[in-house]
Amino acid sequence: MRILVVEDEETLADVIATKLRTLKYEVDTSFNGEDGLYNALSNIYDLIILDIMLPKMNGFEILKKIKEQDLSAKVILLTAKSELEDKLKGFDIGADDYVTKPFHIEELMARVNVQLRSTGSPKQKDTLEYSDLSLNLRTSLLTCKNTNESISIPYREFLLLEYFMNNKKQIISKEQIYDKVWGIDTDYESNNLEAYLSFLRKKIRIIGSKVTIKAVRNLGYKMEE
Ligand code: CA
Repeated sequence: MRILVVEDEETLADVIATKLRTLKYEVDTSFNGEDGLYNALSNIYDLIILDIMLPKMNGFEILKKIKEQDLSAKVILLTAKSELEDKLKGFDIGADDYVTKPFHIEELMARVNVQLRSTGSPKQKDTLEYSDLSLNLRTSLLTCKNTNESISIPYREFLLLEYFMNNKKQIISKEQIYDKVWGIDTDYESNNLEAYLSFLRKKIRIIGSKVTIKAVRNLGYKMEE
């Protein structure tokens, strides 16, 4: 699960990001509104923690744009303001929750967990399935149901595979994969993706699955039977 933290108080943003990482979430941070919106629109986040008072563009405007684009990310608004009016405005635009500063970090974590539990997305299940493949999200064990053979999948390949299995039959661009698996600050020139994909294809082959990850010319990659 990937979370975006948009907060201009960099120390606070770092505290939140560090805490979330200890809870095994993938986290990116943006320190101003423009940057936050740009990252949010990449549509790779399950949750966005969004401060309201931000330089360049405020949290309400960002939230509006997120909703206009119909992104599935949950949004928790963060603000120093505790007035009822602001709270109502936030919910009106489509915020899922609202935390007033100053807050205890554990309180924010509890709200995050509530939001991500209630998404009911396939990622919350113990296993992801596609064709003859079954990926155990707790143990990272990939099983081919036809041959009953299993193989353990290392961390990056696991993130890659999870992303493909959540977006079955869709063409996924290199940029989307880099953003989702390596984070937004990745150098796109890096050649890692092809290497990881070939490791992953090999593992899928070894357990006897008929699933492949195909390159689609100029567009990206696609998982198919
Ligand atoms: Ca602020």
